Amino acid sequence: MSSEARPVALVTGASRGIGRGIALELARTGYDVLVNYASNAEAARAVQAEIAALGARAEIFGASIADSDARQALVDFTLDTFGRIDLLVNNAGIAPRQRRDLLEATEESYDEVMGTNLKGPYFLTQRVANEMIRLLRDKQIPRGRIVFVTSMSAYTSSPNRGEYCLSKAGLSMAVALYADRLAEFGIPVLEVRPGIIATDMTSVVKERYDRLIGEGLLPLRRWGQPEDIGRAVAAIARGDFDYSTGTVINVDGGFCLRRL
Ligand code: NAP
Repeated sequence: MSSEARPVALVTGASRGIGRGIALELARTGYDVLVNYASNAEAARAVQAEIAALGARAEIFGASIADSDARQALVDFTLDTFGRIDLLVNNAGIAPRQRRDLLEATEESYDEVMGTNLKGPYFLTQRVANEMIRLLRDKQIPRGRIVFVTSMSAYTSSPNRGEYCLSKAGLSMAVALYADRLAEFGIPVLEVRPGIIATDMTSVVKERYDRLIGEGLLPLRRWGQPEDIGRAVAAIARGDFDYSTGTVINVDGGFCLRRL
């Protein structure tokens, strides 16, 4: 396949929420998309249809990024199906099943959250980066790009979900590491750091966040939407941030500001 064909994005956790928003914006930007999901095939098929309606090609593949064999199968399927990966978006992530105070949290929850949110994308990126290096060398793609979706929890303490905060802080370092290592291949690696985004993940704490946002927690007094994240990733996908490797793009309504 020549590098003239449409570029391909592998988006993890694209069946719902932020990943869905990213996948749709990438389709609008001219990408074909591999829609990865964990177990919700019906939701993934719905996203596939939405992408097709935008004139792009989408294929779906169920694989837990926490599982090593499933990660390999995901990359194999993407390459067998599309012949290339131009963009990896590490979006899939989970909250702890139960928010528990730091003094009572369990090792089981720690292992589950870290396995999905940190170990999974860290090693998925390792495999995809090696494939991108090969594809670049063989002139199968003109450019590779990698995005990590982290969280404001990368630097904000929430003692009732310490394992989530740790996983996102670690993921932020993964951005620095891969940006550094892959610079010689011209592969930009960027971090997109969402604030409070309206998805299934946050629906369980909606009332609390409604109140906090109403009280002025965010300078821009509204919830973020998946499209807000999707547009930031689409700008990276277009190459607008190719000279900004290692950079954090906050998409958080101004939460990151220090105010007095
Ligand atoms: P969500 O609504 O719960 O959707 C999660 C998505 O990830 C679904 O597509 C789910 O697939 C998939 N997924 C879950 N575990 C997976 C696994 N092991 N392997 C592959 N896919 C998996 O979550 P979201 O709010 O969109 O969050 C997306 C990302 O943004 C996460 O990394 C999250 O930490 C981060 N984030 C979210 C917010 C927020 O306010 N929502 C803020 C900051 C950061 P199924 O449909 O098959 O379950």
